[in-house]
Amino acid sequence: MSLKGKHAVITGGGSGVGAAMAAAFAAQGAKVTVLGRRLEPLQEVAAPLGGFAASSDVTNRASVEAALDAARDVNGPVQVAVANAGAAPSKPFAKMSSADFSAALGVNLEGVFNLWQSALADMQGQGWGRMIAVASTAGLKGYPYVAGYCAAKHGVVGLTRALAQELAKSGITVNAICPGFIETPLLEASVRTITAKTGMSREDAVKRLSAGNPQGRLIQPQEVADTALWLASDAAGSVNGSALPLSGGEI
Ligand code: NAP
Repeated sequence: MSLKGKHAVITGGGSGVGAAMAAAFAAQGAKVTVLGRRLEPLQEVAAPLGGFAASSDVTNRASVEAALDAARDVNGPVQVAVANAGAAPSKPFAKMSSADFSAALGVNLEGVFNLWQSALADMQGQGWGRMIAVASTAGLKGYPYVAGYCAAKHGVVGLTRALAQELAKSGITVNAICPGFIETPLLEASVRTITAKTGMSREDAVKRLSAGNPQGRLIQPQEVADTALWLASDAAGSVNGSALPLSGGEI
């Protein structure tokens, strides 16, 4: 995979997809940095991998820059920037406040902007880099009750496509992964909301979410991590500006 010694920064690295990515990148010899708001889960992920963990809120530019500065001191310039942190609170559109909408854009879209722009100079300095976002099928199609999340994830796909064009001759590629429902803590939160609002059992709620995937199953975090590894590898050097669905054919 040619990731040996490369510095990969993963936001939201303390759980779910981000934790799987940290392990996958470390297994390929990358130097891993994991960022998120809660330090404890980050340290639990990073410690066995010999990685670096720093608390950072991706919605806050200064916080991201400070975390990257600390990470550079340990792992050197950033070569792979995986914008994975996200949150998907659900509400009917009519009940969403302006603050709800801004919060969805903040973590899911502005968080990607903050990480990628903070890492750009490192990649330009080396003439090589990989910007990867974990978007969602919600970046390619609509779902009810998550208007802010869908708007943000569509924005991530747009940002990816635009930046890929802008950086095309720089040795840096920019891509988004668009998974359907993945078995992670974020999905558990959605399941809890469905069971609370509908009285449905947990099992039926999971079945309902899985039914949207023609393969009738949830995506596993490892599948998303493996896709990120491939996008980060030299083998994917010509893949640029893609929004790659991992959805069993849902889209
Ligand atoms: P998860 O386990 O809840 O992970 C989300 C991570 O983001 C957490 O570690 C969280 O850590 C971090 N985070 C949240 N807000 C943050 C902030 N403001 N600043 C820094 N970190 C923040 O859920 P996941 O499913 O692995 O989600 C990873 C990505 O996959 C997200 O972008 C999500 O939208 C996307 N995705 C998920 C699914 C799914 O069904 N699970 C489907 C498609 C796409 P802290 O709380 O400690 O900050």
